[in-house]
Amino acid sequence: MSILNADLHCHSVVSDGTLTPEELAARAAANGVELWALTDHDEISGQHRAMAAAHGRGMKYLTGTEISVTFAGHTVHIVGLGFDPDDPQMQQGLVRTRGGRGERAQEMSAQLAQVGIKGAYEGALRYVGNPELISRTHFARFLVEAGVCKDTGEVFRRFLTEGKPGYVAHRWASLKDAVQWITRAGGLAVIAHPARYRFTANEEYALFSEFKAHGGQGVEVVTGSHTAAEYVKYAETAQEFGLAASRGSDFHSPDESHTDLGQLPYLPGGLTPVWELLEARIR
Ligand code: AMP
Ligand code: MN
Ligand code: MN
Ligand code: MN
Repeated sequence: MSILNADLHCHSVVSDGTLTPEELAARAAANGVELWALTDHDEISGQHRAMAAAHGRGMKYLTGTEISVTFAGHTVHIVGLGFDPDDPQMQQGLVRTRGGRGERAQEMSAQLAQVGIKGAYEGALRYVGNPELISRTHFARFLVEAGVCKDTGEVFRRFLTEGKPGYVAHRWASLKDAVQWITRAGGLAVIAHPARYRFTANEEYALFSEFKAHGGQGVEVVTGSHTAAEYVKYAETAQEFGLAASRGSDFHSPDESHTDLGQLPYLPGGLTPVWELLEARIR
C-alpha cells in the first residue's frame, strides 16, 4: 500500500539532529506517522531506544541508518532499513566509516582559522551529542551562533562545501561495502535523495547500476530534499531499475528543517514501497 504515513529518514542527537530519539518519536507520532525509522549518519547506537519509543507511541518501527559512501569521487548516502541492529559486521563497518571524522574536523577548523574564523572545532563540539560523530552540521550551527552566517543554509553556500573554505575531502565507505553490510544484516539498501548529487547522467546511471549489482533494492523518491518534479523523475528511475521506493523527511531539527516528520506527500502510485519488501522486518 502506497497510502501509508511512513517516515523512513531522520536524524537524532546520535548524529547531527537536535532532538533525542524519544523526542523524535513523540513528534512523529503527533504528526500521524504510522511506520517510522531513525536513520542517524554512520551510527546505529540509537536503534534500541528509537524502537522502544516508537512502540510507546503506537508506531511500527524499522531499524535505520544513513551510511556515507564515496562513489566516483562524490559523497553518496545509502540508507539501510530493517537490518539486525546487533549485527557485528555492520557495527564494525560503521565504526570504521565514522573513524576519520575527528581528524577531518580538526582540518576543517584549521581552514576556517585561515579565513579568520577562530575556535571552530571547539565551537562545533559544543553542538555534538556523540563524540564519534562530529559533522559539518555541527560546524554550521557554530558559524550561525558566531554571527558569521544568518542560517545553516548560508553556511553551506559560503563554507564547508567543495571549493569553499572549511571543505575537507574525505574518503567514506565503498558502495559495495555499505550495501553488503546492510543486506547481510537482513536489511534493505536505499539510495538516499538521488537528486542531491551533482552527477552527470552517465555517473548517475553507473551509481544505480552498480548499486543494483551489489544487491541494493530501493531508492528515495519522496524526500525533503526533492522537488515535486524530482518525485516524478525518480519514480521513473525506480521503475527503470526495478527498485522499490522509499519516503522520508530527512528531518534534523525544528529550527532548521523545512520538512517536518510525516508531512510529505504519499508515494506516487504504481511503485513498490520499500515497506512491502520489509514486511517481515517491521517491528
Ligand atoms: P558530513 O557527514 O559531516 O559531511 O555532513 C553532512 C550533513 O551536512 C548532511 O547530512 C546535512 O545534514 C548537512 N548538509 C549538507 N549540505 C547541506 C546544505 N546545503 N544545507 C544544509 N545542510 C547541509
Ligand atoms: Mn545530516
Ligand atoms: Mn543525506
Ligand atoms: Mn539524512
